[in-house]
Amino acid sequence: ACLDRIAAVDETINAFLYVDTDRALARAAAVDAKIAAGEAVGPLAGVPLALKDVFTYAGAPTTCGSKILQNWIPPYDATVTRRLLDADIVILGKTNMDEFAMGSSTENSAYGPTRNPWDTDRIPGGSGGGSAAALAAFEAPLAIGSDTGGSIRQPAAVTGTVGVKPTYGGTSRYGLVAMASSLDQPGPCARTVLDAALLHEVIAGHDPCDSTSIDAPVPPVVDAARSGDVSGLRVGIVKEFAGDGYAPGVEQRFGEAVELLASLGAEIVEVSCPHFVYALPAYYLIMPSEVSSNLAKFDAMRFGLRVGDDGSHSAEEVMALTREAGFGAEVKRRIIIGTYALSSGYYDAYYGQAQKVRTLISRDFDAAFSSVDVLVSPSTPVTAFGIGEKVDDPLAMYMNDLCTIPSNLAGNASASFPIGLAPEDGLPVGLQVMAPVLADDRLYRVGAALE
Ligand code: GLN
Repeated sequence: ACLDRIAAVDETINAFLYVDTDRALARAAAVDAKIAAGEAVGPLAGVPLALKDVFTYAGAPTTCGSKILQNWIPPYDATVTRRLLDADIVILGKTNMDEFAMGSSTENSAYGPTRNPWDTDRIPGGSGGGSAAALAAFEAPLAIGSDTGGSIRQPAAVTGTVGVKPTYGGTSRYGLVAMASSLDQPGPCARTVLDAALLHEVIAGHDPCDSTSIDAPVPPVVDAARSGDVSGLRVGIVKEFAGDGYAPGVEQRFGEAVELLASLGAEIVEVSCPHFVYALPAYYLIMPSEVSSNLAKFDAMRFGLRVGDDGSHSAEEVMALTREAGFGAEVKRRIIIGTYALSSGYYDAYYGQAQKVRTLISRDFDAAFSSVDVLVSPSTPVTAFGIGEKVDDPLAMYMNDLCTIPSNLAGNASASFPIGLAPEDGLPVGLQVMAPVLADDRLYRVGAALE
């Protein structure tokens, strides 16, 4: 049914870069056969899933939305992919994304934008717009995303779906093509809170292949999603997130969601996180610095595209020609900014300074979580904007990540849940919930209460 749905709508939506039809059908048949033979099957046996094209899946192309990796077929599975397969999930294919996960609209894909199923003239968020759109268009019931600055939560918000960024180290980054390694985190995307929790449980947990993976029990996310009990929960509203720039419908639905939590017994408290206002500038120095380093490996020698290899160019020229042709404008912009920020003479002023701010933001979270159990905010300042509206204005694009970035810098758990439609445009609004490190279950408790 999912493959039929993809065939019917994906020419318009462009959520998928690659549909793995034969293997999906073969895996589904294998699950059926196991069940018929009375054999044990995995916890999500036969459930179809859309995988963001930044995770390796042996035998399927992994492009990261970039021309530089066109036709690259990885020889190994990401740990997340392996755990999906071990759970007997059926992987339908790979979903569209901003190139190397850099963007907030999926317009930075080298393979054309994904369209928001709610209004196909609008963006589905980014960078994981393909995964979110696949859910919203009923092409798949589950999807996987990666969140470096909001790329799971922001698309979830603008497509009316659920997206969770687990605690940093809670899910393995092995086989997730790195954007900014100290911020990247794989996570579950779904249409319901319980679906997301069931998927979370499948992919989470310690992995020796990822040096930053946490060796601790997976938080009880499924129990929390089933309970939805928020009585006595202390919910903090971050004072610094208030201000201009929010769409009226976003503010209205946010206020109503907070009232709903209060009516269910939660205690609402205003808290101050004074350094959150510096999160965006700190992120846009730390992230490109890591990008400039991580993307150095795309050198025309080891992966994918190679341009100018005709005997008339030196190796260095081949590298330059390949990177010139293979990377899009946003990727180049970040490599240049990151290289500059890390260069001697500027390192202390930019990268070093941003790292200090990062520590202050973590301390703001620590202080807040000493008096509240979770923090809430709108997930995004505005609902889905028009395709082409912000693509030529990087700063306007970066503003979409205002609320989501602090949790990436601090590494705590965070999620976006649907809280209705904005009256002015009829488009989905998301509520962001932030919880302490390894308290991912609290996200699901709040999400289930709102559902
Ligand atoms: N929009 C943010 C960026 O462009 C976040 C990206 C992400 O989370 N991968 O950096």
